[in-house]
Amino acid sequence: MLHTLSLVDLASRLRDRSLSAVELSQHFLDRIDNASKLNAFITVDPEQVRTQAESADQILSTGDSHVLCGIPLAHKDIFCTEGMKTSCGSKMLDNFISPYDATVVKRLANAGMVTLGKTNMDEFAMGSSNETSWYGPVLNPWSEQRVPGGSSGGSAAAVGARLAPIATGTDTGGSIRQPAAFCGLTGLKPSYGRVSRYGMIAFASSLDQAGPIARSCEDAALLLDAMSGHDPLDSTSVNNDPSTASAQLANTISGLRIGLPKQFFEDGIDPEISRAVDVAIETLKSLGATTVEVDLPNSAAGIPCYYVIAPAEASSNLSRFDGVRYGYRCEDPVDLADLYERSRSEGFGAEVKRRIMIGAYALSSGYYDAYYLKAQRIRRLISNDFDTAFEACDVILGPTTPTTAFGLGAKTDDPISMYLNDIFTNTVNLAGLPGLSLPVGFDNAGLPIGMQLIGKFMQESILLNVGHQYQNVTDWHKAIPQEYQA
Ligand code: GLN
Repeated sequence: MLHTLSLVDLASRLRDRSLSAVELSQHFLDRIDNASKLNAFITVDPEQVRTQAESADQILSTGDSHVLCGIPLAHKDIFCTEGMKTSCGSKMLDNFISPYDATVVKRLANAGMVTLGKTNMDEFAMGSSNETSWYGPVLNPWSEQRVPGGSSGGSAAAVGARLAPIATGTDTGGSIRQPAAFCGLTGLKPSYGRVSRYGMIAFASSLDQAGPIARSCEDAALLLDAMSGHDPLDSTSVNNDPSTASAQLANTISGLRIGLPKQFFEDGIDPEISRAVDVAIETLKSLGATTVEVDLPNSAAGIPCYYVIAPAEASSNLSRFDGVRYGYRCEDPVDLADLYERSRSEGFGAEVKRRIMIGAYALSSGYYDAYYLKAQRIRRLISNDFDTAFEACDVILGPTTPTTAFGLGAKTDDPISMYLNDIFTNTVNLAGLPGLSLPVGFDNAGLPIGMQLIGKFMQESILLNVGHQYQNVTDWHKAIPQEYQA
């Protein structure tokens, strides 16, 4: 049952050589094969897995290796991987093989981790259900009629079904935390600038952050520590040392002040979610935490603000896909304009086009002040709200999502209702703060419920510490969907 072991347990077996990296990665490759119906992966290259695992075994045999050496992981298909396709969930990049590795990929490979493959995702990370992928939807391992969440849905389904011990994701407005919540996992969006964006295909550059999708806070901390740290190749990378969250997991949370924003506990939230979150709050109190009500008066403006800023940045970022330099090119263009137009029309899906059009409109000279500039001002207010709230508390707590995993197809015809999924998550990106989602129960349909902890800038170690203390006394994070236990 290698897939039930924590990263720490796997690492110790790899070190004492009772388990080889080749064996371990083969175990997960077999599981990926058997669970192909979930559609969690876009690319798996068993040969490359073997080569990487063999070289990890070599390093392990020297007795001098990184703690993660030999541990397999899955990367969201938004991270550039040298020699392995990077599609970003889009027909536009179906033929794209990056000439270099993203910094995240490189750091984890340097630690000796083995890349099992690239996971499915919403096209260009735009979505909350993994249904905008050109490679088809991903199924939720807890219920095949439900979405796994998005945009990192493939990573979440893969870890949820234990097809990988851990995975990377990216979060622009909730895409690590929401799928983690829908699949019963622990997902962390680090502070903006904590993890390098170099080689991570850009959606909205001022919001995008990479982070772990894991089974526990302990696992997530190990991956965060290995993937974070300053990178001169990313101009927005914060000049800090790598995170040391793993070393702080055992700290007591006695005296911790938890802020409960009244806006996160209003109507519209599934009562089963409210109940589970209330119980989790009581558990944290029993560990010595106290609660205080805080106010985030501008949170309702989060969705409209995000859905102006994110598309605006996306429309600019996605202009590079022109059919000339790389990616999809239409057949037999008659002239340059035709080449641009048809390559983009045929290469992008509907949601991506919608975002490009909204973004280009919001940035156009006649409407810039009315939309983009206004959204930037609201962004500042949202950020100020958090600053004020954090004067009274150490972390902010609430549900991760207003509902549990919804049905496949339930929201595909209604973009606004899809966007509303991000109501508790995207203000965190607008403010650049760290956010952690962790499982706190199940609803009556047996679907996982996620709770979110939001921290001060660069304080992800506190979030992981609080989450770890919670996970020490609860078992929600250990639950595995029936079909994937054995
Ligand atoms: N659901 C949000 C969107 O569609 C968030 C996506 C993300 O975080 N990448 O934009």
